Amino acid sequence: MSRAEKIAKMATTTAGQAKQNSVASKKRKKARKGVLFEAHKHCVECSIPIPLSNDSMICDDENCRINQEKKEKSRKRLSILLYVGVGIFIIPIAIQLIGALT
Ligand SMILES: [Zn+2]
Repeated sequence: MSRAEKIAKMATTTAGQAKQNSVASKKRKKARKGVLFEAHKHCVECSIPIPLSNDSMICDDENCRINQEKKEKSRKRLSILLYVGVGIFIIPIAIQLIGALT
């Protein structure tokens, strides 16, 4: 193989590689774009992407489900406490108002 042939071969290989690389990067960019624009949400527990069509806020993982239920329960308890607290404040005021009106 002559020197000129070697150089020519090297040049074509590099060109081919460059083309491949550019195709690959284009594909990668496309893939990234696809992820960016694909509608999805994240599991509130482990943050893994889940499809938007999934009605629940969590993925199918058992641990996530248990944690979410715990949180839900404590949130419910907190809101009940809030209502009870407001009630405790309001009831005496209401009684006083009724007493003042009669
Ligand atoms: Zn999860």
